[in-house]
Amino acid sequence: MKNREMLDTGAEHLKRAGIEEYVQDAWLLFSWVKHVDRTWYYLHMEEEAAETDREAYFSLIGKRCLRIPLQYITGSQAFMGLDFAVTPAVLIPRQDTEILVEACLKRLKAGSRVLDMCTGSGCILISLLYYGEKCTGTGADISADALSVARKNAQRNSVTAEFTESNLFEKIHGSFDMIVSNPPYIATEEIEGLMPEVRDYEPRLALDGTADGLYFYREIVRQSGSCLEEDGWLCLEIGCDQAEAVCSLMELEGFRETEVIQDLSGLDRVVVGKNRRK
Ligand code: GLN
Repeated sequence: MKNREMLDTGAEHLKRAGIEEYVQDAWLLFSWVKHVDRTWYYLHMEEEAAETDREAYFSLIGKRCLRIPLQYITGSQAFMGLDFAVTPAVLIPRQDTEILVEACLKRLKAGSRVLDMCTGSGCILISLLYYGEKCTGTGADISADALSVARKNAQRNSVTAEFTESNLFEKIHGSFDMIVSNPPYIATEEIEGLMPEVRDYEPRLALDGTADGLYFYREIVRQSGSCLEEDGWLCLEIGCDQAEAVCSLMELEGFRETEVIQDLSGLDRVVVGKNRRK
């Protein structure tokens, strides 16, 4: 089988399995297995593919046909121009979450101490420490498996951060200038309606925001005041229909200057607010 046939057959399998981006995914798996780029491909497409590559490729195509997310197959995802390891213990970093990171970077002062609550892969915290000036930070998560991915990611991006296994603020001490979180925010009954990649393979723990999807916002907003400096920022990613609810939770707790920020598709994506004066 020639390289071209190998790529095209893979794409055909994915198409039949209902994968929307079948051309792109077939190519990404092909280039990942063979460690090659487009230029290589055009020069060698009519050559016979090595049998070991073929076997490896079709075994990955088989996984993708089962709707395993591409990133869990290749083990990585780009975020904020950095490379992050991912495993099924963590949510795959989303492009939408870059809006949250940008909102934080705009408000981050040099030397700030940052807490990333529900850090998962660590993508938010690590990006803030990477791009922020002389900032320090802690990532908290209830999952030890997620934290080991986050530690690996800090190392991979040459960032020093502290990671704490904690059920929300239980084990968090000290004071921060910014608290950021992209907590689980999907209402439990909506999870069944998500695409199979998310529903069947991403960690429920990272998705499920309980019956109304707002549990973590209630807890984080209520508990963050006491370890956030006066005038410190709380920055939260939200589901597109949660802005009003999250803003009023924050205002009830005395947060000021609350602001809703939209993503690139114009949907509400982030809510920020300043801690009350103490
Ligand atoms: N903070 C991580 C992210 O944004 C994980 C979020 C989560 O587990 N809900 O990708």
